Amino acid sequence: MTEHVRVAVIGSGFGGLGAAVRLRREGVTDFVVLERADSVGGTWRDNSYPGCACDVPSHLYSFSFAPHPDWPRTYSGQEYIRAYLEHVADVFRLRSHLRFNSEVKKLTWDAEKLRWGIETSSGSLTADVVVSATGALSDPKVPDIAGIDTFPGKVFHSARWDHDYDLRGKRVAMIGTGASAIQIVPAIQPEVAHLTLFQRTPPWVMPRVDRAISGAERWLHRKLPITAQARRGLLWGIRELQVQAFTKRPGELGMVEQLAKRNMARAIKDADLRARLTPDYRIGCKRILLSNTYYPALAQPNVDLVDGGLSEIRGSTLVAADGTEAEVDAIVFGTGFHVTDMPIADRVVGADGRTLAESWKDGMKSLRGATAAGFPNWLTIVGPNTGLGNSSMILMIESQLNYMADFMRQLDVLGGRVALEARPSAVNAWNREVQGRMKRTVWNSGGCESWYLDANGVNTTIWPGTTTEFRRATRRIDLAEYEVLRAPTEVVDKGRTKKTVETGA
Ligand code: NAP
Repeated sequence: MTEHVRVAVIGSGFGGLGAAVRLRREGVTDFVVLERADSVGGTWRDNSYPGCACDVPSHLYSFSFAPHPDWPRTYSGQEYIRAYLEHVADVFRLRSHLRFNSEVKKLTWDAEKLRWGIETSSGSLTADVVVSATGALSDPKVPDIAGIDTFPGKVFHSARWDHDYDLRGKRVAMIGTGASAIQIVPAIQPEVAHLTLFQRTPPWVMPRVDRAISGAERWLHRKLPITAQARRGLLWGIRELQVQAFTKRPGELGMVEQLAKRNMARAIKDADLRARLTPDYRIGCKRILLSNTYYPALAQPNVDLVDGGLSEIRGSTLVAADGTEAEVDAIVFGTGFHVTDMPIADRVVGADGRTLAESWKDGMKSLRGATAAGFPNWLTIVGPNTGLGNSSMILMIESQLNYMADFMRQLDVLGGRVALEARPSAVNAWNREVQGRMKRTVWNSGGCESWYLDANGVNTTIWPGTTTEFRRATRRIDLAEYEVLRAPTEVVDKGRTKKTVETGA
């Protein structure tokens, strides 16, 4: 017989583990966490490239319900964040729920039984509710470069680092200048023979105020947890105050550009190189990057900056859009992720037989970043328009966990075999409001192209407000925004009118 669970969570990064903790706290223990890899950690497991660290301070980039007084640095490295997530899995007794090597291949809504059929690489199961926590930065994107199959050397993506391949003494091409690349460049520059950096668009790079957290501070945070809370509160408050500039008054960010230019001028003495490294769009339009070591690395004699991006590969020769050629032994793609076209969307088949990808073909749309019309009892963590430009995603994830918890409570209160499906009118109203607020933001008006915008130029990724506003918007389920589906034959409209529909059951 096919196994049935109350909830299937997909993914065991911050979102999936957070969902698991929250479900247990809500008294839901009949759930599994399906994970395609063989350990927890999500993006913090997959991204192990040299120099990988978080650019949000650790005391804010951690769960409020799992404070960690022992963060070693203000901005901790990937290995510490990954270890933190392993620790969360242990402390909150999540191990028995974890199903490793279980990649979700297909999710199909069963309109008769009001449940999801789930096919995974390790077998099939069914679930009343699916919580998709696959993350926005989980599937690496490698551009379709002509001639890539003719390259005789080593090729890998920043999120799939090959630690068995020794870069020492090699001629290496780094493709891209995003958050990953600017951490990789200074980490590998000292050991490679030559580094060619293919830059399509220069980023704004601010100084990174990073330091070790002293033993005394850690002791204090352990003995007096309120001090760690105060630290977190301060980090949060500062970022909350910055939001207005990003969302309503991007002109104010111009002052910040001066700091970034000074950061560059300190290390780059060549005026021509400085000009090539200076962005022509408003700071904040793309993610603001933090590094004290990126520019100094670019000033080293074994580094060349090539403009225009990589456009073709002829054997071991890489050709940039401006015609510049470079012969290399290895290519590292720091070219980002499938964010607005996430692969899981192709695998979710909703109530009308359409996939989520088909339903989102004109752009991702959800209700409050969580649910979608046509996909009953399906929630996503880090869904459309829940990303942040300047603060910690963990704050947003925890808001979404509140929403998920209330979703489960509502199902219990309604009782019986029941499902909640977002009304198209509610989804549209939510998106009209979000997109209305988006117009003035730096992400839409800052004069750049970024992964925040989809193929139609619509910003379906970022939340155009404060984390407090999002917390308020996701505190509770508003049943008026949902259609209540009941098995086998009734639909209760807003809890008022009952109409019977044929489900064939
Ligand atoms: P990304 O920000 O999407 O950057 C991709 C880079 O590849 C861009 O510079 C892009 O240029 C470039 N690119 C694409 N095709 C190219 C081509 N043919 N030739 C040359 N360049 C090309 O990806 P990412 O750096 O992996 O970062 C993704 C996100 O992950 C970040 O925005 C951030 O949210 C997160 N992240 C966070 C941290 C952290 O510290 N917390 C660290 C790493 C990543 P264009 O700019 O011209 O498109």
